[in-house]
Amino acid sequence: MTGASRGIGRGIAERLAADGALVAVHYARNAEAAGAVVSSIRAAGGQAFPLCTELGVPGDTESLYTAFDAALVRRGIEPRLDVLVNNAAVSGSARIHEVTAELVDRIFSVNVKALLLLTREGLTRMPEGGRVINISSAITRMSYPESIVYSMSKGALNTLTLALAKELGPRGITVNAVAPGFTATDMNAKLRTTPEGLARLAGLSVFDRIGSPSDIAGAVAFLASPDALWVTGQLLDASGGMHL
Ligand code: NDP
Repeated sequence: MTGASRGIGRGIAERLAADGALVAVHYARNAEAAGAVVSSIRAAGGQAFPLCTELGVPGDTESLYTAFDAALVRRGIEPRLDVLVNNAAVSGSARIHEVTAELVDRIFSVNVKALLLLTREGLTRMPEGGRVINISSAITRMSYPESIVYSMSKGALNTLTLALAKELGPRGITVNAVAPGFTATDMNAKLRTTPEGLARLAGLSVFDRIGSPSDIAGAVAFLASPDALWVTGQLLDASGGMHL
């Protein structure tokens, strides 16, 4: 479970642990936040361990799986990955005239390249019946020129979802994406600093509120569950009807 120290990732990690999974709480720098997630899962009777690796830098995939495998071996478990949730991502506001090569490299190296390579490697540990769940965004279904590079990176994720679902069908592995709308996390905190900003974001949902991490976690938990074994290659909207 990448990017599980905060926000939507934390919500998903806590939910999957409550549903019985042993969760690798991955993070980049925020050890304290990751530790708090592990503690909260354990306090609720679940199982979790922290896993630190910065994504988007050389050697990221190798160091992530070296640490992942070692953590499982320490628990007496053969390295194995039943559910991979690709959640960690970086955002960045830029309209087309503000786009720089650095921004494209940064966003694509974390949101696309690292995700693709860690999925390739994770699949070598995934048994029949496994799940790959990619956290996309509702902005792939509507026009959002304010964050054009970030939107494009999430579009790549949807394309990966479609291609991989067919590739992995013979192994009984499903591959789906979940598309949140605006959700109350650090990623968009700046947009919610005023009552007007908060009201504007809330008004994008037909429910007139901003989403919470647990709203997204419910959709992910469904895709990870046995009930979703016949669902693959889909983009499941979890935006509160943002684009209706
Ligand atoms: P946050 O910014 O709140 O949390 C990001 C998480 O990803 C943290 O755990 C962070 O770790 C980790 N992370 C960030 N950069 C890296 C990196 N380079 N290497 C490794 N880990 C990293 O994000 P959200 O919870 O808001 O978003 C989660 C997902 O949901 C993302 O894929 C996002 O694109 C998507 N999404 C979010 C929406 C929203 O409104 N919030 C809307 C639509 C989609 P650390 O704590 O160590 O920094």
